[in-house]
Amino acid sequence: MNFLYVLDYSIILIIIGLGCSTGEDNPVQHDYNPVTKAPPDPPYDVTILACTKHSAVITWTSMPDINSPIQKFHVEYNHSLSPDVWTRAATVSNELVNEVNVELRPFASYNFRVIAENVIGQSEASVPSASVCKTESQVPDKNPSNVRTDTSKPGWLIVKWDAMPEIEHNGPGFRYKLAVSKDEHITNIEVNDWRETTREIHTGFVNEPYLITVAAVNDVGECHVPPVEYLGYSGQGVPGPVKAVDIIERGADFLTLKWEAPEETNGDLIGYDIRYAKLGGTRVFQLEVDNVLNNQILLNNLDANQKYWVNVSAKTRQGRGEAFQIESQTLPVHDATKKTKKSTPATTPTPRATGSSVPYMYETTSSVPYMYKTTSSVPYMYETTSSVPYVYNKIRLPYTLLPSLYNITIQPFVYGDNPKDFTFACEVVIDLDCIESTDYILIHSMDHNISYISITNKTGTTELVDWWYIEDIEMVQIRSLYTLTAGVHYTIYIRSVSRMSESLRGFYYSPYKEREQTKYIFTTMMEPTDARRVFPCFDEPDFKAVFIFNIKRKEELKSLTNLPKRLTVGPDNDGYYTDIFDEPRNVPMSTYLVAIAVGDLDYLESTVNNVTFRTWCRSKQTNKTRYALEIGMKFMEFFEDYFQIPYSLPKEDMIAVPTMSFSGMEHWGLITYRESKMFYEEGISSLDEKEGIAIIIAHEVAHQWFGNLVSPYWWDDLWLNEGFATYMMFLAVDRVLPSWNMVNKLIVEPRGVHNVMQMDDDTFTSHPVYVHVDNPDEINRIFDLISYAKGGSVIRMMNFFLGEDTFRKGLTRYLRKFSYKTATHNDLWSSLSEQAVIDKHTYTDVKAVMDTWVLEANYPVVNIARVNSSTIQLTQSAFLETEEQRVTRSHVIWKIPFVYTTDVENNFDKTFADITWISNKTAHVTDKKLENVDWIIGNIQQYGFYRVNYDDDNWNALLRQLRTDHTVIHPINRAQIINDAWNLARAGLLDMQIALKTLDYLDVEYDFVVWKSALRELEYMRSLLQLTAIYGHFERFMRERLEKTYFHAADAVDHYNRLQYSMVSKIACKIGLKACIDDAMDVFTAWMQDDNLSVDPDLKETVYCTGVEHGDEEAWNHVLSRYFASESTSETNFLLHALTCTQKPWLIMRLAEMLFHTDIFSKTEKVSVMIDLSDSPVGRLLAWHILEENWDTILKQYGDNINLISGIIFAAARPFNSRSEVNLVKSFIDRNTNVGGFKGEFLGVIDFVEGNIELMDTHYDTIKAWLTAELN
Ligand SMILES: [Zn+2]
Repeated sequence: MNFLYVLDYSIILIIIGLGCSTGEDNPVQHDYNPVTKAPPDPPYDVTILACTKHSAVITWTSMPDINSPIQKFHVEYNHSLSPDVWTRAATVSNELVNEVNVELRPFASYNFRVIAENVIGQSEASVPSASVCKTESQVPDKNPSNVRTDTSKPGWLIVKWDAMPEIEHNGPGFRYKLAVSKDEHITNIEVNDWRETTREIHTGFVNEPYLITVAAVNDVGECHVPPVEYLGYSGQGVPGPVKAVDIIERGADFLTLKWEAPEETNGDLIGYDIRYAKLGGTRVFQLEVDNVLNNQILLNNLDANQKYWVNVSAKTRQGRGEAFQIESQTLPVHDATKKTKKSTPATTPTPRATGSSVPYMYETTSSVPYMYKTTSSVPYMYETTSSVPYVYNKIRLPYTLLPSLYNITIQPFVYGDNPKDFTFACEVVIDLDCIESTDYILIHSMDHNISYISITNKTGTTELVDWWYIEDIEMVQIRSLYTLTAGVHYTIYIRSVSRMSESLRGFYYSPYKEREQTKYIFTTMMEPTDARRVFPCFDEPDFKAVFIFNIKRKEELKSLTNLPKRLTVGPDNDGYYTDIFDEPRNVPMSTYLVAIAVGDLDYLESTVNNVTFRTWCRSKQTNKTRYALEIGMKFMEFFEDYFQIPYSLPKEDMIAVPTMSFSGMEHWGLITYRESKMFYEEGISSLDEKEGIAIIIAHEVAHQWFGNLVSPYWWDDLWLNEGFATYMMFLAVDRVLPSWNMVNKLIVEPRGVHNVMQMDDDTFTSHPVYVHVDNPDEINRIFDLISYAKGGSVIRMMNFFLGEDTFRKGLTRYLRKFSYKTATHNDLWSSLSEQAVIDKHTYTDVKAVMDTWVLEANYPVVNIARVNSSTIQLTQSAFLETEEQRVTRSHVIWKIPFVYTTDVENNFDKTFADITWISNKTAHVTDKKLENVDWIIGNIQQYGFYRVNYDDDNWNALLRQLRTDHTVIHPINRAQIINDAWNLARAGLLDMQIALKTLDYLDVEYDFVVWKSALRELEYMRSLLQLTAIYGHFERFMRERLEKTYFHAADAVDHYNRLQYSMVSKIACKIGLKACIDDAMDVFTAWMQDDNLSVDPDLKETVYCTGVEHGDEEAWNHVLSRYFASESTSETNFLLHALTCTQKPWLIMRLAEMLFHTDIFSKTEKVSVMIDLSDSPVGRLLAWHILEENWDTILKQYGDNINLISGIIFAAARPFNSRSEVNLVKSFIDRNTNVGGFKGEFLGVIDFVEGNIELMDTHYDTIKAWLTAELN
């Protein structure tokens, strides 16, 4: 509550009242003078009227109302031992009351005071003129807690407990009474000072049990509650040296030694440590014997005829005793041929190298910092790992230690000219809770030069450790000298220096040009497994922890992380400032969500629901982020409302980065985007780009809940993150911007239903949505369309069969239940089922349905057949592109929520109440509504992730309907009819003639979604027919179908139809629609002549491309020079695309030369050039040639980025449709040893091309006949 605010407000009212009142206007009459603004005089005659065992009565007299009426009296007391601390005992709100009874604690002396208060403020305090109230004594009301023992001192029992400072519990003569008993014998000890909390008792015994109690006692007596008994042990020490060590057998490559146990054990021995090394050598090997009865060991794999030193020490839990050292020599080879031992006894552990050349130092002293300087860069350590067999070898972390807090200090050294020299220093302090006792810490680390590691235990003792790097599993294995004990808290400190990454993974530099100067933004991309490249960490999503950052940077740079910056200190002597970021103690996050950004940055800011929302980018470009800011805030508001859960952090930053491997990344509180996916410029960017920006931002903001608040337990449920964010992005854009009609468009979007259905109909390219993955490569590969788009599509289907209300409430239930934790898809099904039960839903077993869609690859086709006039039979079977593949999946049954309508019913607004579940191979629907119908359509609005096939009569009736009045059918179902028909025909399940005829009526179709669906097939046909004799026919057919919609869309002004115009004109110009080419060339010619003329952004792609295609070399050169001159990302994208539109082979080869032999283009630009090239008749002939010629360069530049490289491979080969072209690919991979890790991508492309060939073989004649008929 804001007291000052109320006060100010009343004063303002008073002043306003004075300023404008004539008395009549202001009926409120004050009975005091409001101008006298003073607190009241203090009360007087404060008296302690009575003082009893537990209370006192205080009275006072107040002054007359000189100023304004007194509103309150505050009675406060202090304690004689802390006279400055006043505690408020009572507040009286009635001016006429001047006596209170104050409750007090026993045994204490109290003083009192009284303060008066009016609307202006408080009086001074008045105290009684005499007497102090002393309450009566009693026994303490509790005993000390947390009694424990410390076993660090052999022969001593050290008892500790928590102090009882609360004075009121203690009473006169307060003391602690310890009772220590063993075998009926009890020792009592009293500790008189309450601040003393430890007692050392000499017992003479090591590791002996004692029963201990600590009671609170005062002069009145002992606490009524008996103290809790605690079983503690007397301390043990490190053992003395072993008595003797002898070599009992020698060979050329082994020594066997034997020793005698130490005389002084100082506790229970738990084993022996053996260290040995070649005399004068640097590699020290270590063995452990954990059986105290075993006092013999074999050292093998030694070098012949060499002198070795060996030392043996005994261990208790307290530590390792002094070593007994001997030296011995192995035999020369000829002396030892008969004695060589081949195997190691089972009881003997295998030797391993230690993490440093100076392990001996670790024993002799606990702090040897100067030693580490000599080994500050220890890359040679990594080499030794090949000969270290005693290592952890699992890809997943053990659940022995859980991180709770990371404190990370990062200092980039990025101020020179050559980015290859950029490095960063990192210090990480991690708080760990030990869950299971262990000697080892396993922590992910990749590409770091670690120079120092230490562990601090509960007593604050810091221990230096051995460590080694295990390349295969990207971990450092750290060995503690003492066992880390379950239930105890440890801190690990790691210092390293690392190279700033050139690839787009880990902590990388992202270059951009500013007035001829190259500058950089330094940022991170950690998903899925690259946090380990930024700092050593427990890099699995389930190891959530809190992250605190300190970033050191020079004055000209700014730094950002997931949380707001708290303060900046500095500069230090080297001119570095340190930005210190907030500590979100209550927001643990997965490592992959952590982010850092450093650079010459600037921002725009706004606030939404108390969250500071900023958009960042390189300086001087912030205007381009204004749209992102506006739309981002709307999505934030939408999701807070939709999920009914507020956003978790105090701020949300979104930053545009010049280069990035993904379009966006949902780091919690610091979302990163590729510049082209965040920059929007009115008049320059197209509507398509605008839509792309809105979609990606909605996606990343959705992740702040789905993924960040609740994260996947492991990467096999990646789809849960991505599928949800994908579905939610469409939903959010639709709700926030309804005129865009995104719920219809999601069918044909790149991450929509049709696109992924085409990928998922092949056992070779597809996989189940939920997929088992282990290593980083496998994890990286599932960031694909299946996880995103099929994930999103099956969630959309789930939304349909649960209904909006249950779906939304179920999500909220799930997100609340697993907030700040991780979950699996089964957890989500449970939450949704719980909600369905609460809502009395007709269908509640979510898992039973979803398992069939999520655990199985591919999807079904439902065949609808008439049984009689009122009954249809529904038969499901796996839909795959070949019969061969269908057979392999014929056993799979999906649970299908089927809905349909007919020409008579004509209802395209179905709900879950209309569902017929198909749970077996077949199902039947009997309904009077089916009588006398002309056609049936299944899968209304394509809510279900399945195709529908009909008998020929029904297909023909649908074709007739499209011709006579297509608007009767919902646009989504029109798009579905085309998409289903074509895919069924390609798979041989439908006559190709029917598929072709679904395109006949397009001359009267104006809808964007339907056209997009049709163009998918038409563009595919165009690319296949491009080099055939009937291509001229095809172009003519296309021109006839496109003409009307081209002119219709040209007049449109709304978003939806402008997009239609933009899309249709691209293809219209390509297939030679004269009006389109004329329009485009007019604009292009004008643009060539006038540098200031700006082309309508939605037509730019068409205008530039058409201009280059129909223009000469000068046009191409002009576009290239405009590319160099432009600073706008979207403009350069259009210009770059236009360069690929030329049909002059030598210009394409000029482009190819620039592509792979200069650094003019960014990595992502190069990939899009390759994709665009293969779209034109000449370019497609050259794209593969360019890939072959430049493969080594491509590998060098993209080798670590699977997404980009598979994009290039696919681009180069995708239009191939002849045997000779397949052979090109085959012979390339046979010939080239360098395709290594990407063979799968090449084989995928071969598979795709073979599909093209088969299609041409099977359907060419049909297509030819149909085109001929259409054109007559
Ligand atoms: Zn995502």
